Amino acid sequence: MKTRVWTVDNIVDKQQIYPQIQEAAEWLRAGEVVAFPTETVYGLGADAANTAAVGKIFAAKGRPSDNPLIVHVANVAQVEAIAAAIPPVAKTLMERFWPGPLTLVLPKRAGTVSERVTANLPTVAVRMPDHPLALALIEASGLALAAPSANRSGKPSPTTAAHVLADLNGRIAGVIDGGPTGIGVESTVLDCSGEVPTILRPGGVTKEALSEAVGRVEEAVGMGDEQTAPKAPGMKYTHYAPKAPLSIVSGPPSLLQQLVDESRAGGKTVGVLTTEENKSRYAADVVLACGTRRELETVAHRLYDTLRRFDETGVDLIYSEAFPEEGIGVAIMNRLKKAAGGRVIRE
Ligand code: AMP
Ligand code: MG
Repeated sequence: MKTRVWTVDNIVDKQQIYPQIQEAAEWLRAGEVVAFPTETVYGLGADAANTAAVGKIFAAKGRPSDNPLIVHVANVAQVEAIAAAIPPVAKTLMERFWPGPLTLVLPKRAGTVSERVTANLPTVAVRMPDHPLALALIEASGLALAAPSANRSGKPSPTTAAHVLADLNGRIAGVIDGGPTGIGVESTVLDCSGEVPTILRPGGVTKEALSEAVGRVEEAVGMGDEQTAPKAPGMKYTHYAPKAPLSIVSGPPSLLQQLVDESRAGGKTVGVLTTEENKSRYAADVVLACGTRRELETVAHRLYDTLRRFDETGVDLIYSEAFPEEGIGVAIMNRLKKAAGGRVIRE
């Protein structure tokens, strides 16, 4: 299969649907899979009601079939069509955070989205992306789009169309290239199907912001911990991993440098993931700065690209600095720990 690339301007006049978007929308209606930018990462979309189309997502990604997909919508009527009910808490959050990086898990309306999307769960995960091209595509297709991140399963999520093509060229019908994504880590997944809203995956919307809007919010047991039984089915899989083994070092730069020195003495080629503030403090084979600590949003924005850049350097192993687990830092550390397979070296 030859993968079509539609290059479009990121700033869309909402009244004007570009011919490229129309064509991509037609392909989606015909049951093809198309990658598109969102404000978090690139998604790989298919008609959520079409089981064969959804099957192409799992095939292209190599995604385990028990890991359900998020359904992307452009209006609340689409949510009402696929959810059996929208609890008051969910309504409040939709008004406050949509469009935006918040996914809500709601009771599913039977016979709407494909069972492959929801992995036979009684719930469905929905979100409205805050990206003009994503919204234009959903509107032009008239479909709710099931869309996981547009990477091969296990790899870092794509934040550019080039990342999508590196993983999926020849495996998907097309990709809309709308430039780099903004936030850089995926949406927060919040389960609203029970008594107390529960974060299943930390992401672009912080726990603090959610609590401010609706009061009590819990975190799923084992949210960042691979050993505990997962509530979000996706939590149990290895994710975001660069080719070289990655370890997080929780301690001062001197400790990280000591580990680098030991590994290099053992003949290894070593990479360091740090930030602009600290990059001159390390002597290693490859030192990559991922944003600045002063603004953790810049770290989130650059994280997956930085992990992918290590793949091109051929290092044998990577040591990463740790980040404060507050605000967006919770999502950054959640992704880093998964990329590291849980390896955290402490002082
Ligand atoms: P991705 O599509 O790669 O961003 O991952 C989607 C995340 O949402 C995974 O962690 C899924 O397990 C989670 N998810 C999707 N649908 C549901 C659902 N119905 N219930 C709980 N978690 C879900
Ligand atoms: Mg993903």
